Amino acid sequence: SDGLRGRVLKSTGKWYQVLMPTGEVVECRIRGRLRLEGLKTTNPISVGDIVILDPKSDEEGKRVIVDYEMRDNYIVRKSTNLSKQMHILAANVDCAYLMVTLKFPETHFVFIDRFLVAAESFRIPTTLIFNKVDLLDDEGLLDLKAIMFMYESIGYTCHAISATNDKDIQFLREEIKDKQVMIAGHSGTGKSTLVNALDPNLDLRIGEISAAHHQGQHTTTFAEMHPLQSGGFIIDTPGIRAFGIVNLEKEVISHYFPEMRELIGACKFHNCQHLNEPACAVKEAVKNGGIYESRYFTYLQLMTGDDDDVHRRNKRG
Ligand code: GDP
Ligand code: ZN
Repeated sequence: SDGLRGRVLKSTGKWYQVLMPTGEVVECRIRGRLRLEGLKTTNPISVGDIVILDPKSDEEGKRVIVDYEMRDNYIVRKSTNLSKQMHILAANVDCAYLMVTLKFPETHFVFIDRFLVAAESFRIPTTLIFNKVDLLDDEGLLDLKAIMFMYESIGYTCHAISATNDKDIQFLREEIKDKQVMIAGHSGTGKSTLVNALDPNLDLRIGEISAAHHQGQHTTTFAEMHPLQSGGFIIDTPGIRAFGIVNLEKEVISHYFPEMRELIGACKFHNCQHLNEPACAVKEAVKNGGIYESRYFTYLQLMTGDDDDVHRRNKRG
């Protein structure tokens, strides 16, 4: 039954749309056993999963998902129900594109860094897409250069583009063509413009990922994955608020800053939290420019509970 593998494009929790290698999209349900095994989650199968279908249809003529391939990574968040279940938003995210604009609207460092921390915690590689460069004057372009240099020096790929520039679009099509790429970023940064330029057959509004953390505003929207004519897939995860800072213990937050991760073992105290401890290699690096202040600022924000999700968690112990 090797030929019966497909890719989940959409799920409502009950029904799953699965793209088959033939190009056909079939509506499937899942075998009960998978639900039992996946009780810790509201949805055992997610968008982005590679699933295996039963060669036979069920009594009603529906196709049935019997298993799924091991995931490279996946994004989870707490579900909206009270059962402490997790909700899997997307699986096998080869890359997250974080859409950033320095102007119109301005994207703040804290937003970028919080996103990067969350993505690191899910082991999702992130590429920063600096959009609307056509709107920048000489001073803006210098800022852009400095900011790209900062993130590249930490290890993140950066592209400066205009979603309205054909060459830039062609470049990204090439990059995406064998990947499942998630698109994130503030409203107004050009996510929808980019996706619709990548594939004119799509006519999408891409949902917003916001770092705002209003409690009780989690909406139960499901992610959706869109195949591109030029190859590859765009994952749209609408309605995520405070993207995934759900499960971070204070002790591990610095591990999600690659430039701090590099310094593991270099502080005097092995359990150094890089706050007020003496002989702290991280604070030393901030002082001598090895670590950027804006990055350390976000770290402090996450550590000192100035973050709703981390805060709530620490209070609960
Ligand atoms: P989204 O909310 O992230 O999906 O953002 P949209 O795609 O709706 O874009 C917001 C606005 O920015 C729209 O008016 C777009 O036309 C405009 N826009 C998007 N990309 C660019 C760009 O590269 N350059 C310029 N000048 N405007 C852009
Ligand atoms: Zn330290």
